[in-house]
Amino acid sequence: MMPVLFLSHGAPTLPLEPGETGMAWQQLGAQLPKPSAILMISAHWETSIPTVSRAAQPETIHDFSGFPEALYKLRYPAPGAPKMAQAAALALQQAGIPVQLDDTHGLDHGAWVPLSFLFPQADIPVAQLSLQPDKDPAWHVALGRALRPLREQGVLIIGSGAITHNLRAVFKHPQGEPAPQWVAEFCDWIAAKIAAGDLQALIAYRSHAPHAVQNHPTDEHLLPLFVALGAANRIDTALHLNRVLTYGLLAMDAWLFDAA
Ligand code: ZN
Repeated sequence: MMPVLFLSHGAPTLPLEPGETGMAWQQLGAQLPKPSAILMISAHWETSIPTVSRAAQPETIHDFSGFPEALYKLRYPAPGAPKMAQAAALALQQAGIPVQLDDTHGLDHGAWVPLSFLFPQADIPVAQLSLQPDKDPAWHVALGRALRPLREQGVLIIGSGAITHNLRAVFKHPQGEPAPQWVAEFCDWIAAKIAAGDLQALIAYRSHAPHAVQNHPTDEHLLPLFVALGAANRIDTALHLNRVLTYGLLAMDAWLFDAA
C-alpha cells in the first residue's frame, strides 16, 4: 500500500533556493515506491465543496506575485489524472461527502514546487483535491479517511501546507535571529501528538496546542495535515522528516505515514 505524505512547502522561491529542504525532498522522492498517480491536497486551493481536478494536461499555476521572473518560467509538465480524479470523487461520494469535478484547474505552487523535487521527471499523473476553509480539522480528517482505498491502487496522497504559517511574523523577523519560542513550542506539540497517535488532540489543536492561533492566524496551511492524518492507517509510526526552519520561523517539517 502506498504511504501518505504531509510536507510543508515553504516560500514560492524554494525552486531558486532549494537548500536543505530541496535536497530532503529529492532524497525522499528517490526512496518512495513509484505511484500510479498522485493526489495533491494543497493549502492554495480552497472551495466550499470538495473539488477534484480532472484536467488531462494541468497547467502550472504561478499563484504568487512580486517574485523573480525566473520563477514564472518554471513549468511542471506532468500529465493529469482524470481516471484517478474520478475514482477519488467516487470514494468521497460513497463516504457521503459532497464532491464536484473541475476540468480546468491546474497545479498551484503548493503542488508543483514540491513535486518538481520529489518527482523531477514529471511523468506521474497528478490531480488535486481542494480544501474547505470554512470546515474544521475533523472534516478534513474525514476527507482523508474516505480517500484511503485509493492507496491500494498505488495512489500517493500528499498534503502540502505548513506546520507554522504566520507570514506577518516572517516578514518582521530579523534575519539571523533565532526562532521565537512560540514557533518551537507549537512544532514540538504537533510532533509529540503525532508520535503519540493522539488524533483527537490534533483535531482540537486550535484550543489545545500552545500558540496555535499565533502560528496559524488562519488555518488553511495546516488543513492538508489533517487530510494526510485521515488517509494514514497509523499515525504514531510516522517518520518525521526535514525539521528545518526557513526565514527564521517558517517550519518545514514533513511526515511520511505508513512507510513500509
Ligand atoms: Zn503556501
